[in-house]
Amino acid sequence: MSTHTATDMKWLKEKQVDNDVMRHPADREAWKKFDRTFPKLAVDSRSVRLGLATDRFNLFGVLNQHRMMWTVNDFPAYAMVSGWSTRAYMACPVCRENITSSWHAGKVCYLGQRRWLHWDHEWREKDKEFHGEKEHRLKPGEWSGAQILEQLNRLDFAHFGTNVSRTRPSTHMNWMHKSMFFELLCWSKLKLRHILDVMHVEKNVFDTLVGTIPDIDVKPNDKKEFLKFLSSVKFPDGYASNIACYVKVDRGKLAGLKSHDCHVVLQRLLPMGIQHLFPADVDVRKEKLSVFAQIARSFEDPICGESFSKKDIEVAHWFVFHNCDETLSYLDKHENMMKQTHLSHLYAKKHRELFPQWFVEYVNQLKASNSPVYTEELYNFAFGPIHIELYSGCHVNGVKFLAGAQDDKLCTQNNGVHVLGGGESTDIEFYGKLTSVVQLLYKDR
Ligand SMILES: [Zn+2]
Repeated sequence: MSTHTATDMKWLKEKQVDNDVMRHPADREAWKKFDRTFPKLAVDSRSVRLGLATDRFNLFGVLNQHRMMWTVNDFPAYAMVSGWSTRAYMACPVCRENITSSWHAGKVCYLGQRRWLHWDHEWREKDKEFHGEKEHRLKPGEWSGAQILEQLNRLDFAHFGTNVSRTRPSTHMNWMHKSMFFELLCWSKLKLRHILDVMHVEKNVFDTLVGTIPDIDVKPNDKKEFLKFLSSVKFPDGYASNIACYVKVDRGKLAGLKSHDCHVVLQRLLPMGIQHLFPADVDVRKEKLSVFAQIARSFEDPICGESFSKKDIEVAHWFVFHNCDETLSYLDKHENMMKQTHLSHLYAKKHRELFPQWFVEYVNQLKASNSPVYTEELYNFAFGPIHIELYSGCHVNGVKFLAGAQDDKLCTQNNGVHVLGGGESTDIEFYGKLTSVVQLLYKDR
């Protein structure tokens, strides 16, 4: 074994920092409990711990590994490695007999997820928004490995199976067999025995979703457009494989993607590619100017009693100019003019001072000369904001952002902002905290 590998293997024991931050499975309770249960093993920094990743393959032969901590699998494989069937009314191996499930529209549906929320979560009190009932039950109790083992030892699995009987006695609930992992002495002492592999599950969701594309009620042309869009996208090097290879526009098919590509399509491309298939709502507006097309929406009522000086409005307007693709060429044009007519240490200041008024006049000239570039929207934009409102947060692309003061009260954090530097420092990235949300209202907007 290389000395580098040896150092890396001892990293957990020698470099691990315990400060309530989750960076590695070793920071979780399941790992710590393992250490407490098997102190002899834990004390030796060279001990090897194994997780078994499975994709429905044959498990015989893996039991020689004595330090297995957990299996990593998708949901169907969960049934095989745990012995608990992940189908029908008791599909959840965690909620088990406490699950809330019922039959709707030809399928078993699983409800009652609000049981897992904190006991005073606001959603627990809502009824109309869910299936007509409030939720006051606490989360289902957890079965320890020892309890599960005891339960399994009491059940008789001999009398049913593929050849004998297909019906499971009700005493067995969803148990299909006693998992062979219980032959490992440590298995019943583990806090966590099986882990769902998110990328794997995501790929399953993707395959199902894409499988339904032929059934979605959209015009055949729209389907084609979506697939064409997928085959036209270009990614940065190393970001994804060439997704175009998997798209068959003529046959309306998308197949053969690896799980990482599925992740990219689901998270990045699908929302963009099918956005136009849905009826436009308040969030998605079709504007000509890019700056008005941003999918951002403030929430709650504006904060009252805030006033903005003329200077504040000018600063905000200037910022928006620089974030509107269509005005960048006008900014360049004006800046060049200023460079020619003013001294080098003055032109930037003059550019900023004079551009807004110059731009209004320029747009007026465009109108007077019947220029095809002129639009009412461009005029309203040049005219500047007619009203400003302050908010405590906003939604952008479906993500909620809260201003710092609001966010500090929560255990989640949604106020990180990232902007590229301007002027000389365009290649510097700035990170900050959202302190308030300012909405600029333009005429007709
Ligand atoms: Zn559950």
